[in-house]
Amino acid sequence: MTTVGILGGGQLARMLALSGASLGLRFLVMDTVADACAGQFAPLLVGDFRDERALAEFAAKIDVATFDFENVPAESAEWLAQRAPVFPNPRALAVAQDRLVEKSLFRELGIPVGEFAAVSSRGELDAQVALIGAPCILKTRRLGYDGKGQFRIRTRADVDAAWEALGPQAQTVGLIVEAFIPFQREVSVVAVRGRDGEFRAWPLTENWHVDGVLSASLAPAPADAALTDAAFAHAKKLAEALDYVGVFALELFVKDGRLLANEMAPRVHNSGHWTFEGAETSQFENHLRAVLGLPLGSTRMLGHACMLNWIGELPSRDAVLAEASGHWHDYGKLPRAGRKVGHATLRADSAVELAGALRRIGVALGRMAQVAPVMDRLL
Ligand code: AMP
Repeated sequence: MTTVGILGGGQLARMLALSGASLGLRFLVMDTVADACAGQFAPLLVGDFRDERALAEFAAKIDVATFDFENVPAESAEWLAQRAPVFPNPRALAVAQDRLVEKSLFRELGIPVGEFAAVSSRGELDAQVALIGAPCILKTRRLGYDGKGQFRIRTRADVDAAWEALGPQAQTVGLIVEAFIPFQREVSVVAVRGRDGEFRAWPLTENWHVDGVLSASLAPAPADAALTDAAFAHAKKLAEALDYVGVFALELFVKDGRLLANEMAPRVHNSGHWTFEGAETSQFENHLRAVLGLPLGSTRMLGHACMLNWIGELPSRDAVLAEASGHWHDYGKLPRAGRKVGHATLRADSAVELAGALRRIGVALGRMAQVAPVMDRLL
């Protein structure tokens, strides 16, 4: 019996455990809190990721380790890697944890990125804002997620407020300033690389964010073949450079028909949740196959799919379940402002049918603002 250890016990670990059950896998999840939602389906070890005793107990009980959470300290991943196979490898995790290191690697690999610079003092921020120009965004290098740890500098008059908000973190998690990209669209490549180097990507996905948090995803993203091929080529080059094993996402902006990389996520990704029902093999199953050295499944998709995120609280599920290809995911979490508590996936054989289903859901749930941009793209 193979036991997969997952560091982090949120909805990603929960969905990994659900899809791994059919492969006959056992799981052990480690999280810092006792009510981590993956603990409803897999044994949960509660402990701090820096606690070597807890990590040693975890290592002793598993055959292979992986992540639901990219901010596991890189040293803890290194420590664990001395005792058990860890995929993706700790270096890949460390690169993805630091926006400056990550963007520098993109640039080194010839993956286009917007202007960016490290900031360690107020003087440097002033100098870089003058160089890059406003608008720009000041972000923490590490530990930011879902738009947290970011401050938009609209004009140079905002620099004081930006420094007040994030300056204290310059010496702890570090800061980076990035040019604001006036993009038309956001897309992501969700891809998997096996232990033997085999690379597969699911169809390009288009994403819509609200307040920095993913609101909706559509696959396949309507895009020309050249753009799609370029996005896949960037993802493949990145995976190879990091000797990456498992699923990851590369988030990209589309501006005037050109791609600019934003960030990578070294794990299964919210913009790949639609693969559960919309693809031959889901990102969750393929991640497990990859880390276990099993053959990868096909990433072919079936028709068109849209994922809608439920943030803060779940709406009524009735309208989604009433759809012929409506699927409901409740993460078993308590409602809380800003928290991802579930999602729905709608699948259809044609773009027009999918738009129709989205309209019905939007009306029934009073969520036209969430579905309208996706409908516009489909029609
Ligand atoms: P991030 O945490 O970097 O993924 O940022 C969350 C969201 O904020 C992104 O998906 C974009 O919608 C927006 N954003 C982040 N960085 C930039 C940027 N440099 N220019 C424009 N929008 C951005």
